[in-house]
Amino acid sequence: MGYEAVIGLEIHVQLSCTTKMFCDCPNRPGDDPNTNICPICLWLPGAVPRFSLETLEKATLACLALNCDIQPRSAFDQKVYYYPDLPKGFQLSQHHMPLARGGWIDIMDEDGKPKNLRLHHVHMEEDVAKLVHETEGRTPISLVDFNRAGTPLIEIVTEPDMRSPHDAMAFLKVLRTQLRYTGCAECSMDQGTMRCDANISLRPLGSDQLNTKVEVKNMNSIQHVGNAIAYEIKRQAESLKNNEPIMLHTRLWDPEKGITTAMRAKFEGPCVPDPAVTQILVTDEWLRKMASKLPEMPHRKVSRFVRQYGLAHDEAAQMSSERELSEYFEAVVKFGASPRTVANWIATQLLPAVKEHGHEFATSPVTARRFSGLITMLEKDEINSNSARSVLNKLFETAKSPEEIVDQFGFRQVSDTGALRGIVDQVISENMSAVENYKNGNKKSIGFLVGQAMKLSQGKANPKRLQEILRESLA
Ligand SMILES: [Zn+2]
Repeated sequence: MGYEAVIGLEIHVQLSCTTKMFCDCPNRPGDDPNTNICPICLWLPGAVPRFSLETLEKATLACLALNCDIQPRSAFDQKVYYYPDLPKGFQLSQHHMPLARGGWIDIMDEDGKPKNLRLHHVHMEEDVAKLVHETEGRTPISLVDFNRAGTPLIEIVTEPDMRSPHDAMAFLKVLRTQLRYTGCAECSMDQGTMRCDANISLRPLGSDQLNTKVEVKNMNSIQHVGNAIAYEIKRQAESLKNNEPIMLHTRLWDPEKGITTAMRAKFEGPCVPDPAVTQILVTDEWLRKMASKLPEMPHRKVSRFVRQYGLAHDEAAQMSSERELSEYFEAVVKFGASPRTVANWIATQLLPAVKEHGHEFATSPVTARRFSGLITMLEKDEINSNSARSVLNKLFETAKSPEEIVDQFGFRQVSDTGALRGIVDQVISENMSAVENYKNGNKKSIGFLVGQAMKLSQGKANPKRLQEILRESLA
């Protein structure tokens, strides 16, 4: 019998707020352990949580970007459980009355067709403390770092609309792009600012029942999510074939071995309304104000880039993949360089160069003005693409303008017919056998001769003019 997979995801996303969710401590979990703490986020008895407006604003923006319905009234519950990373015995989370319901994301399925994936709801939640297990060089001990305690999270719970590892991975990529666009979250799985659990079950093809699911945790890259789901589908299909029932339980992904293993069940207590944190009431007016803060989202930007700048769809999608990148692209174009050349050079030259020189895009010294200067010289035939690549590399090493670099290093392209003819004459006299070959019908030898001439010009000749003159001379 054929089976199909039914997959839903639960994604925790850390909001990039300046403070924690219920106190004024900095939201910087990576600082030295236990430096960003106070009685409220140490959860000392009697300390009263004060809900931060910034958390509500960022969470709301994130939900709007995911097409959710913000609820007029939402509230916090105490999710009761005990663990060393949660010594107060409960986590503040929105169980009964989440901030937002519904919502959706569009992805492309395996066949390149658009597919709509629905969200069930999005709720806010405080993070717990972090346990650090020291096992080397002494008696194993466990330490608790409270920097992360009380940092603001949203949890995005999807409907079980995904059918394959591809769907889940595509969902996470689009989700990450959308949320990063809002500026509300970093969404880095390897930094832990986005964490994903997957619920997977199987059912006979053509059925619409929902069978017992298995939850998989501990995946810290989008690829791991795909691998874990693929493994789990195979494992469950095997069990069903052997008539072994699927039990509801949680499993951990082991990326080293490429398998999931059963995890000990955690005691989960009830969820009871929290008496201290006030309910959240959202007015239409406030919601309109928040909606106006939403940036142009990637799918709209892609269409606009195609329309306004004449980019191909792929180019537009690439230039819109990050908000910062899209803004950079537009800034360069505003300086006057032509959009398609700019898009092409950003994708094939600038981005690899930024990486190679050990920069992040945000810290790259190649500002839009400098990059546009470079592209403009290229377009005006003042330098050829070889020289442009050399100038680009120099932009990382000096603060000079591309024009100054071109003059300093003599990169200016030689288009002058007289100078080029001199070079061509020399190449012809030094490479008689290639010239003979060309004249005997081996048209490929022209490539060799152009190469020799470029070398002689120290890479500065205008290759198009050079080839024209060479052909004339050999005719
Ligand atoms: Zn605090």
